[in-house]
Amino acid sequence: MFLLAPRPSSRTPDLMVWDIVGHDRAVDLLRRGIARGRVSHAYLLSGPAGVGKRTLALEFARALNCERLGPGATKDGERCTDGGRSEPSSSVLGPWSGGEPPCGACRRCRLIGRGQHPEVRVIGVEPPHRIIRIADIAPIQAEAQLRPADAWRKVYIIEQAELLHPDAASRLLKTIEEPPEAVIMILTTVDPEATMETIVSRCQHVRLRPLTRAALADHLVRDRGLLPDRAVLVAALSGGTVGGALCTNDDTSLEKRARLIDDLASLIDADRVERLSYARGLADRWSGRPESVRDTLHAWLRWWRDVLLLQRGLGERIVNLDRRSALERDAARFAPTTIAAAIAQVRDTLMMLDQNVNARLALDVVALGLPRSELAA
Ligand SMILES: [Zn+2]
Repeated sequence: MFLLAPRPSSRTPDLMVWDIVGHDRAVDLLRRGIARGRVSHAYLLSGPAGVGKRTLALEFARALNCERLGPGATKDGERCTDGGRSEPSSSVLGPWSGGEPPCGACRRCRLIGRGQHPEVRVIGVEPPHRIIRIADIAPIQAEAQLRPADAWRKVYIIEQAELLHPDAASRLLKTIEEPPEAVIMILTTVDPEATMETIVSRCQHVRLRPLTRAALADHLVRDRGLLPDRAVLVAALSGGTVGGALCTNDDTSLEKRARLIDDLASLIDADRVERLSYARGLADRWSGRPESVRDTLHAWLRWWRDVLLLQRGLGERIVNLDRRSALERDAARFAPTTIAAAIAQVRDTLMMLDQNVNARLALDVVALGLPRSELAA
């Protein structure tokens, strides 16, 4: 389900912001495009996973199609026609109502927010496939030629554009090169470098960057009801993305992270036999649940990075804020070269596992190579 919720009724229609956390420059660019009647036919939204690419694309689709803002809307925000259900006229390309925010409450806004508007479509990889195929793109090509029936603009949001099969990308390129009048294509990607250059060059590229910790924590307290201490911890752990923060804030997720950190502390004190036993447990999980093994190694990586940050006097950048005293203890008892070696070894192991090396051997090596306390035999 999509993330856009109906707006609280207290929202004033003349407020010149969209329902988006952060990304002020991107919102401003899209909003001004609408206000000036200069909307591009194709956009590329890039940024890390969870940063809000789909949320922004859907809010843009709302702003383009909100029944209270489209051509024919009056100044008080009410439509003078039949609630936006009439056929769009040639004025479909004209300026909207000053780029004001979509109401979030009209029928179209609600349908778009729920991902149920038939002319605002989200297209992506369809499991079990791992690429976007011609079969996923071909229907858009045909549909895009038809005039919109219940929208000012048809919007196609194509997610993970870096996973477009070259043949599917070529099909899409035709629609982008000869765009039907009332169609907007929005591609999203975590990796613009890996996205077909001919497509990228025809899109207006909008980059979304992670929020600062302070801005994200503020949002989590104000709009999501988190207690301040928890909001600060979640903001630090999530890498500055709202999507990441919502996953991290889950109790199970926080408990799992705490367990992984406790396990690591035990391993630092453990002897060779105990370390090998833990590694064998990881190796057994690798075949069925590789994500859980990656999570373990990423937790180790975050830990050692924090230790190194403390050693370098950059304590304000650590992410495991609730474990500061244990981090300080490790920073005091291990040499920076030991920590740097631990980081390199965990990174190498993650890379080797992705290259299908002998997982058991790789995990034995990384467990044995962890820094040792004076308790470890
Ligand atoms: Zn609306």
